[in-house]
Amino acid sequence: MPSRKKTTTKKASAKKTIKKDVSKKTVVKKQSSEKKVIVPSKKKQSAKKSLAKKVPMLLRGMRDILPKDGNLWLTIYNAASDISRAYNFGYTETPILEDASLFIRSIGKDTDVVEKEMYVFEDKDEKKVALRPEFTASSARVYISHGMHSQPQPVKMWTIGPMFRHDRPQAGRYRQFRQFDCEVYGVRDAVVDAELIVVAYNYLKELGIDCQVHINSIGNLDDRQRYLLELSSYLRSKRSMLSDISKKRLLKNPLRILDSKDEGDKVVLEEAPQILDWLSDDSKKFFMSVLEHLDECGIPYILQPTLVRGLDYYTDTVFEFFAIDSTDGSQSALGGGGRYDGLVKQLGGHDTPACGFAIGLERVLLAMRKNIESRDTIDYSFDNRPPIYFAQLGAQARRRALYLIEEMRKQGIMFIHNLAKTSLKSQLEVAAKYNATHTVILGQKEIQDGTVIIRDMESGIQEIIDEKKLAKTLQKLLNRATK
Ligand code: AMP
Repeated sequence: MPSRKKTTTKKASAKKTIKKDVSKKTVVKKQSSEKKVIVPSKKKQSAKKSLAKKVPMLLRGMRDILPKDGNLWLTIYNAASDISRAYNFGYTETPILEDASLFIRSIGKDTDVVEKEMYVFEDKDEKKVALRPEFTASSARVYISHGMHSQPQPVKMWTIGPMFRHDRPQAGRYRQFRQFDCEVYGVRDAVVDAELIVVAYNYLKELGIDCQVHINSIGNLDDRQRYLLELSSYLRSKRSMLSDISKKRLLKNPLRILDSKDEGDKVVLEEAPQILDWLSDDSKKFFMSVLEHLDECGIPYILQPTLVRGLDYYTDTVFEFFAIDSTDGSQSALGGGGRYDGLVKQLGGHDTPACGFAIGLERVLLAMRKNIESRDTIDYSFDNRPPIYFAQLGAQARRRALYLIEEMRKQGIMFIHNLAKTSLKSQLEVAAKYNATHTVILGQKEIQDGTVIIRDMESGIQEIIDEKKLAKTLQKLLNRATK
């Protein structure tokens, strides 16, 4: 380090160095105490300043939900709440942060989710923790740690919330995404699997999304073990034709090769043994029964012999939901799920059958947006009642307005309003923008008289009514409009 050498000798040469180095990145200044102090150059200082001014950026793969999409999101959340409550699922919430071993042990250490995508780090207690990449493992922990096996079975849980996977971000694939999940514990009956599919299918349908169910059975653990031997031996015989990633998977997780998107792999898979031929009688009967239930409910499905779902805990039924007009493969899967009869025991609980599904809500939102763009008729308004605007004039009216808005809300009547606006003209403009059918107008005179004005926004006709009759009058208007 030649420049440093110069600074450590005499004062004069140190001065020279300072002068010389001003334009460089850093300056080594020598103090009388002979201590060296690193002073950032002006360039670096100003860079630091501008950095301090820079707005911290959203992390890659993360998204904000903005008010413009707020109603769509609330529609998605409310539909989830309505349908899961109708099918007697109990709302459940678990921490976003869990012991990493929960996911490693349940999802499997050789899966993409655990191996590549899970956010794992040590917390301040040097404990290995993970941001949950999915909900099933957490629900199994809840079932075990809250002794739910002693409650009447089945135990049905639902939740909604963020999941995290350090995936390569692209349309419909984010690092934080939301899922709606339903899980059923304690009963091994085909009707449970079918009910979950019915719930997910109808949830999507209610949001205007026509979907197709892809379904398969991967049998019980013994069936799968026998099938794996057969599949591995077949794939080994075709090893030279497989893609590099499939060659790796052949050693670690050959089942995953079944959902390869590689064209060469797909050719090899055409002749591969199919798991349905390796199912035990019990698994075959169980699967047939699931399909019969779906037939009975008129749920369209496609038997997909290569569908395996890629996580270790699945047994028997596995399924995925695809938007009907979807053109590409896995990316457009709206959700999926399956049976996982071995998971609770594997995590240290009692032997407990279970089944569940997860729907990716960002993809649901994308499908709803597509609907809005392509179909005029679809209406996703969160609140279907015709909007009524509340306009006020003057400080006294504003105070009364705030009181009246709350009084009306208690009786189920809601308004669009902007109490910060002062001119009636601008308030009526906003009312028109929101397609308000009526505007309640409250001014100084109305307060003195104990009245309010109701303006029909289409005809412009205004009616003065007693303030005490406001709720009844508005209710009548709302009833008339919803008929
Ligand atoms: P999985 O259990 O991995 O099949 O996930 C269930 C659903 O969650 C998928 O069908 C997607 O809709 C959604 N999902 C999974 N990963 C992501 C992601 N990285 N970004 C957005 N949605 C996702």
